[in-house]
Amino acid sequence: MSGAKSGSADATVDDVHARQAQFKRKFQRRLADIKHRIEQACVRSRRVSSDVRLLPVSKTVEPDRLRQAYTAGCREFGENKVQEAMHKAQELGDLSIHWSIIGHLQTNKARYVARFAHEVQSLDSLKLAETLDRRLQIEGRALDVLVQVNSSGESSKYGLSPNEVPAFMASLEAFDCLHIRGLMTLAVFSESDETVRKCFVRMRRLRERLQQDLPDPATCHALSMGMSGDFEIAIEEGSTCVRIGQALFGPRALPDSYYWPGETN
Ligand SMILES: *Cc1c(COP(=O)(O)O)cnc(C)c1O
Repeated sequence: MSGAKSGSADATVDDVHARQAQFKRKFQRRLADIKHRIEQACVRSRRVSSDVRLLPVSKTVEPDRLRQAYTAGCREFGENKVQEAMHKAQELGDLSIHWSIIGHLQTNKARYVARFAHEVQSLDSLKLAETLDRRLQIEGRALDVLVQVNSSGESSKYGLSPNEVPAFMASLEAFDCLHIRGLMTLAVFSESDETVRKCFVRMRRLRERLQQDLPDPATCHALSMGMSGDFEIAIEEGSTCVRIGQALFGPRALPDSYYWPGETN
């Protein structure tokens, strides 16, 4: 810096802009890479890539960076925590963003979700469905909904067991403000691709069974499965929505145990 007038405040502003530009370049590179890998997984499994939705997962990512992601073309974000999502929705209220709640939702948070969210992928109880529907009626809104399934059988994971899903899906038809679209799952965390794949295969079969049994097969078309570490396997097994966090935004500071009970890393 030269001259007495260009003080440290200017330097700081320049630094901020430089960091923003750097993040945006990195983000664009990662986004292109993920899209390419989605394409490749689709080619391998003879699917069309327009059938696979990329949902960027933005938990712990600052609103400022989401602005950069928006300018790079992202129009929707997935969040685990209602409070955090609501804060970002307010902060980025000038942008047209589709907010998706993908983390376990307590019934007492339903009224907030009914106000701003567009989708809930983690529906896992009738009580939550009832509360959401009632709150949505009050707000004059509707939500896209996926039912969370525990496909790994681990007691630490949220979601219905596969056997409970058909009756649960049938009972959701009573709720006018919930548009049921399909199923969501988190696969087991394992080094073994084959162990992970088993969870996704279980989901694919569950959807096939539902499509035969439910009056409207469209209500179980969506299969949200696959994250940074396993999305290619998920696509090979029929995923229609991959939820990608760290592979797009970089590593998270908070451990996953903060978001998922029972995880130790
Ligand atoms: C955090 C999270 C993701 C994304 O995980 P990454 O490993 O960062 O891709 C996907 N789904 C759920 C439910 C999450 O909580």
